Amino acid sequence: MPPGLRRRETPPEWSIPCPVPTCRAKPGSPCHTPTGRRLAADSHPSRADAWLVQTTRPAA
Ligand SMILES: [Zn+2]
Repeated sequence: MPPGLRRRETPPEWSIPCPVPTCRAKPGSPCHTPTGRRLAADSHPSRADAWLVQTTRPAA
């Protein structure tokens, strides 16, 4: 692959495991559908949400 092609970066939410029961993607791994296909969006919305909650915890 030529270096000029757009390289996809790892989504930040990949730093946590996916909370979706049918997915359970490990940290650093893309999300999958129950049939084993990789998600077109790379990760479930719930995973991004869970990551956001973790990183934007309100200061007590
Ligand atoms: Zn997932």
